[in-house]
Amino acid sequence: MRWDVLVWAPRSDEQLGSNFFFGRVGLLWSLADENRLSFFGKLWLAAFYEVGDACEDQANPFHDLTFGMAGETIMGAVLWAPRSVKIARRVSFSPSVGFSSPMIKRNAVVVASLVVVGGAILGCSAGTNPDAGAAPPAAAATAAAVQLPAKVERLADNVYLFTQSTHRSLFVVTDEAVLATDPQGSQANAERFVQAIGEMTEAPIRQVVYSHHHGDHILGGAAFPADAEFIAHRNAEAHLVGSEARSVDRFVGDDETIDVGGLQVRLIYPGASETDSSLIIFIPDRRVAFMVDAVAVRTLPWRTMDGADPRDWISALERLDELDFDILAPGHGPTGHKSDVRENIIYLQTLVAAVQQRIDQGQTLEEIQNTLELPDYAEWVRYDEHFKENVQGVYRELVGG
Ligand SMILES: [Zn+2]
Ligand SMILES: [Zn+2]
Repeated sequence: MRWDVLVWAPRSDEQLGSNFFFGRVGLLWSLADENRLSFFGKLWLAAFYEVGDACEDQANPFHDLTFGMAGETIMGAVLWAPRSVKIARRVSFSPSVGFSSPMIKRNAVVVASLVVVGGAILGCSAGTNPDAGAAPPAAAATAAAVQLPAKVERLADNVYLFTQSTHRSLFVVTDEAVLATDPQGSQANAERFVQAIGEMTEAPIRQVVYSHHHGDHILGGAAFPADAEFIAHRNAEAHLVGSEARSVDRFVGDDETIDVGGLQVRLIYPGASETDSSLIIFIPDRRVAFMVDAVAVRTLPWRTMDGADPRDWISALERLDELDFDILAPGHGPTGHKSDVRENIIYLQTLVAAVQQRIDQGQTLEEIQNTLELPDYAEWVRYDEHFKENVQGVYRELVGG
């Protein structure tokens, strides 16, 4: 069956942990790759990517509309066979229930879809007021969610994930105190995060931990209380010179434990990975580990992996893998399990070995990029977009290192 894909925007917190929604964009791309998408399906994908590009400003509502990979706005799917159309209604979707599916005419969907995407592109390009349209697509569907604030997923007792656009921040709530992580890149994002915490507890936010020094995760700290202590790994200090990020009150070493109302939160630096300041935020008693950008569920690393030698990156993930936990919470994409760490390690090991083998055979970077494929990973998110760049990054370190 060939599918035209895309459209609507159901959301619920329950979906965040659902494998069904794992790698939504990746799923769509893989359908396209397998040529199981019709012409209109592909047009849709292209258009949505266009919108996403135009909407890098995460305060822009169209960013959420298009890139809600982790729950703010989940792109539901309109799947249709030649004679019928099934359209996801704006309700929470559960894999076991399936889409509610009023039948409507295919042409009407195509036209309406293109109008929506076209409008979104224009809206983004025009720099739409961030607050003007942020609510409708998602807010209408939140009622079915559990009683957590919108965008909050419970991982374990006291441990939650706040998701906005594609970015996710872990936070720990006890009766006495809250520890939060990344403000998520802007004042507006951070304000929504602080508000979500405030809807859950009256306990004060005592600490804010930067997962690493990248601005898309850490800008916006001014939205947090003035007396909150901002914490980062000591290697972040040099990177943050001249940064607009809220200044760090305490730089920590490689293994620090913070007491949050009696619950221990460990900050562990496992060595360089996506950056040389990337921390593991580990809650041993809840068997949860949070790490941003260095690891994700069945997802390739971003582009050329320029933050570290991949062999160091592997070591850092080995260190993560040594910790005793069940739930892996990445900074993007769905929540996973400890086994996902091992999968990431094996991917990197496989890639390094394959590139090294070709270097030994005298191949150039271009030759390697043009011939090397790792079909086992073809279904992973970003394989089509970033695999060649992953190769480039590994090559750079193997040749230069
Ligand atoms: Zn990063
Ligand atoms: Zn990131």
